[in-house]
Amino acid sequence: MAQEYESRLRYERAFDPKRCKASVADSIGFHSHQCRRNPWKDGWCKQHHPDTETERRRSREKRRLQKLGRSPAVQLQAARQEIARLKTEVSRLKAHMAENSPPASDAR
Ligand SMILES: [Zn+2]
Repeated sequence: MAQEYESRLRYERAFDPKRCKASVADSIGFHSHQCRRNPWKDGWCKQHHPDTETERRRSREKRRLQKLGRSPAVQLQAARQEIARLKTEVSRLKAHMAENSPPASDAR
């Protein structure tokens, strides 16, 4: 969540209500200043509005989980589960066939 700008030191500019109220770091990351964009909603610009930031965080988490799902370890685990499921199914079918197959005839 973006922090609201407030001027703490003498050389910092005073808060400007006509601009986005987010506090952003300068290029070095040492000082911060008020965001230069125009307010979009609730005094925040589109980029720094809490709703936008929540949505951005959600899509980042979704991409992270998708990437995690493509990892070899997770795919191996899924493959092992599928193999176990198929083995169970095969043994169930074998039991079913043994019960329902006609008795083997030795008349040739
Ligand atoms: Zn902003």
